[in-house]
Amino acid sequence: MISEKMIPLMKNNSAIRMMFEEGNKLAAKYGRENVFDFSLGNPSVPAPAEVNQAIQDIVKEEDSLFVHGYMSNAGYEDVRETIAQSLNRRFGTSFHAGNILMTVGAASGLNVILKTLLNPGEQVITFAPYFVEYGSYVRNYDGELVVVSPNTVDFQPNLVEFEEKINEKTKAVIINTPNNPTGVIYSEETLQKIAAILEKKQKEFGTSIVLLSDEPYRELAYDGAVVPYVTKYYRNTVVCYSYSKSLSLPGERIGYLVIPSEMDESANVFQAATIANRVLGCVNAPSLMQRVIKRCVDANVNLEAYDRNRNLLYNGLKECGFSCIKPEGAFYLFVKSPVENEKEFCEVCKQYNVLVVPGSSFACPGYVRIAYCVSYGQIERSLPAFRKIAEHYNLV
Ligand code: PLP
Repeated sequence: MISEKMIPLMKNNSAIRMMFEEGNKLAAKYGRENVFDFSLGNPSVPAPAEVNQAIQDIVKEEDSLFVHGYMSNAGYEDVRETIAQSLNRRFGTSFHAGNILMTVGAASGLNVILKTLLNPGEQVITFAPYFVEYGSYVRNYDGELVVVSPNTVDFQPNLVEFEEKINEKTKAVIINTPNNPTGVIYSEETLQKIAAILEKKQKEFGTSIVLLSDEPYRELAYDGAVVPYVTKYYRNTVVCYSYSKSLSLPGERIGYLVIPSEMDESANVFQAATIANRVLGCVNAPSLMQRVIKRCVDANVNLEAYDRNRNLLYNGLKECGFSCIKPEGAFYLFVKSPVENEKEFCEVCKQYNVLVVPGSSFACPGYVRIAYCVSYGQIERSLPAFRKIAEHYNLV
């Protein structure tokens, strides 16, 4: 009955489901507070109070037919202009409402832009480790995801292999910074090099190659780390932004695409993307949330809470002898497995009621991802378990 394209997706889904069910089983046996689930990237810091206040004020103050109604498929003009002006203030760009397309989060933004760009058989390059859904999104439009192998020294992208993998079928490149799962921020130098390679290859093949910057973690950067704004380095950039993490609103499904005026065929791309938004069935991004963004455009979650978690877990793991680079952003630690097969390591962690995700789920075996978007208390309680795991492997 079901489409053949769905069969591999269902197999993969059951692996994720199994982990979820495993967590529930352990919780039932040992008590929820004794199970240390670091598997999910669900924000643990609440949405800012002004977001909740804005929801109430909008319902009271704005016309109900307007707030709950259809609007242009690209979203409310005033909301898009507010976002454009906020970006211009923060990053010295010169966007206007016509560059901003409201989307149903980054997942939908990526689907909208991939539907807009891809012909069957065209390629999209990304850098391992990467958010595994990219493969599904690209295959939705019969494209092919080409993966550049990881640079495990500092997890900046492997640019030599990148250049080799670009060909006349390359339509887009997806980058994600700050990165899920490593927490690494791509440096200005990295972005300049990516831009130079793409410029060169566009000339060589006489094509346009679009750089898709997937940025749900842009606002989660620690110790004053700067996350360079990608449109400044390369003309054919499209930014996929989301408020899922920056305002802790993943269930509300709100984000936007930036389609700069400078990119090739910008007006055409914008119009096609607006239609893609409609025909993919999103029609428009959630109306109430758009109105909230208008009022809370510069709001932020309490970053300090994530930063405290980051320091506690990073220092705790290092003291036990685990090896890991200190993440500058997002809310993940990417830890080297003490044994080659990290799935085995995940199984041992489970014996100590610690749930972590194998790096092979991000095309980077030999590592595990630990999501520290959990309570501070969970991290405190988990440290003795991590120590026992370290002892198991004679790391201490
Ligand atoms: N891209 C990356 C790298 C992510 O980690 C996520 C969610 O975790 C998404 C995209 C999807 O985010 P959204 O909730 O905005 O669809």
